Amino acid sequence: MQKLEMLYEGKAKKVYRTDNPDLLWVEYKDDATAFNGEKKGTIVGKGVLNNLISAHFFQMLAQEGVANHFVELINEREQIVKALDIIQVEVIVRNLAAGSMAKRLGMEEGTDLGGPVVDYCYKSDELGDPLINDDHIRALKLATPEQVQTMRETALKVNQILTEYMKGKNIILVDYKLEFGIHKGQVLLGDEISPDTCRFWDSRTMEKLDKDRFRRDLGQVEDAYKEVYRRLTGKEVNL
Ligand code: 5GP
Repeated sequence: MQKLEMLYEGKAKKVYRTDNPDLLWVEYKDDATAFNGEKKGTIVGKGVLNNLISAHFFQMLAQEGVANHFVELINEREQIVKALDIIQVEVIVRNLAAGSMAKRLGMEEGTDLGGPVVDYCYKSDELGDPLINDDHIRALKLATPEQVQTMRETALKVNQILTEYMKGKNIILVDYKLEFGIHKGQVLLGDEISPDTCRFWDSRTMEKLDKDRFRRDLGQVEDAYKEVYRRLTGKEVNL
């Protein structure tokens, strides 16, 4: 497969066209941003780790019957995915209160929610990804009610699979963000699943093993991402 011109450069990834119109070539960057781009930095090796970690999760989810965009790894930093028409909604699943929900509702971080809470946000940098509901999605014509139902059901299925899987790695899946898109009429899970898009807490020490280390200046960001990779695969990555 041939890597052709760059179509899009996002905060964490570059996306290239390929000689197959159904497939895209994604390159993961070391750039890190938070708070809607207000905080910027570099996490050495993040692109490699997120590419490999995300590929690992997507392969596992495909085996469990979760339709997704992942096709194959090209190298440590690059992967091929199916081209999606991205639905402009972030689907967030929460098991414990943390981050924006803890702040907005005055809850202590780590409070058990007694079952998953699904939030939707409108993907808009300009507006700062505001929280929306099913009716807003309809009013904004972001997705059909059937697509919303598919996204919700898939997000909850992913939660069951990943929560159990991470438990076996001594990691609590606190919350995460998913994105979906349409490929040949089918809703597929897209984007990435990585320490950039999930909150992972060590179940023994409650140490944060995710992007909150960068957001909150906790240090040892690379080490945390490497630790997640090590626990998932049993392998080391040389950066
Ligand atoms: P919160 O609503 O607390 O900011 O985020 C909830 C979860 O979704 C966290 O795991 C966070 O990493 C993820 N998340 C929400 N919005 C974004 C986003 O715009 N970018 C990334 N990388 N993750 C997000």
